[in-house]
Amino acid sequence: MEEVKKIYFKPLMELIDQARQVHNKNFKSNEVQASKLLSIKTGACPEDCAYCSQSARYHTKIKKEKLLDLKTVLEKAKLAKKQGATRFCMGAGWREVKNGSQFDRVLEMVKEVKKLGLEVCCTLGMLSLDQAKKLKQAGLYAYNHNLDTSPEFYPKIISTRVYQDRLDTLKNVRQAGLTVCTGGILGLGESHQDRCSFINQLTLIKPPPESLTINTLIPIEGTPLEKQKPVPILEVVRVISVCRIFFPSSMIRLSAGRKNMNPSEQFLCFYSGANSIFIGDKLLTADNPELDTDHNLLKSMDLQMSSSGQIL
Ligand code: SAM
Ligand code: SF4
Repeated sequence: MEEVKKIYFKPLMELIDQARQVHNKNFKSNEVQASKLLSIKTGACPEDCAYCSQSARYHTKIKKEKLLDLKTVLEKAKLAKKQGATRFCMGAGWREVKNGSQFDRVLEMVKEVKKLGLEVCCTLGMLSLDQAKKLKQAGLYAYNHNLDTSPEFYPKIISTRVYQDRLDTLKNVRQAGLTVCTGGILGLGESHQDRCSFINQLTLIKPPPESLTINTLIPIEGTPLEKQKPVPILEVVRVISVCRIFFPSSMIRLSAGRKNMNPSEQFLCFYSGANSIFIGDKLLTADNPELDTDHNLLKSMDLQMSSSGQIL
């Protein structure tokens, strides 16, 4: 933890400089991976995550949707590929995966999407080792499961599960031979100390996660965090820089909340080490920049969408 704090509290210019050097040693400096995130089952989740539009505990405006059929998912995956995505992520508003016909349908989706030559990722909530192995067998490349914040702050955000539940799922994911995507949300009301503790938790995951997700809170009407103030961009840049330094060869995904960042703010995030975005006007349930907006944005920064997956 002391090691993380030492880097985290460095003067920002020095910190970004160091992060940029690490980034350029490990990645093509002008490439950003494009991924597509599709909600395959939306809403009616029994958990009480204070930020989430899909929690059944809160009265939010999202439209509940049952598990999508295979045909719809494949159409979305083909379109995503045509639009430049090299990774296709399927998310579900579940607390955990339950064995049975729905999980079998998800396995089928993984199998068919993989045939399109995309990195297939799922984020379905908590997962047993046996379920992780089945996903691996079906062709899954990555599993996302976010720690979201520090262990100390976590109980203030979610009470229907504990931090260890998240860590156990990540252990199952790794044991099944899948790559690990994890990360969190900035702007929940966490302190700098919490952010250091959150990053420290990420450093305890061995081998390091191949993919880190950095969300900034999208305040959702009807949730306990609906009135939360936006996190200052330089605090986001600080966290991204620290993550780049501790995770030199991991993909850092600038995820939820990017729509609220102007081009210069996004440029700062890329400059300090973020090198992946979700494309398409919808994340799971939240808005995301339109595709042409992103194409123009990347062009204005002399950045291009990488043609392969993990750009190393
Ligand atoms: N139900 C699954 C789970 O909780 O693991 C997957 C759903 S989705 C991938 C969950 C993640 O999206 C959360 O862990 C959080 O990091 C992010 N997220 C959800 N709502 C958000 C919001 N309002 N603002 C920013 N990030 C959000
Ligand atoms: Fe459910 Fe996941 Fe939303 Fe939490 S983040 S309420 S587990 S869908």
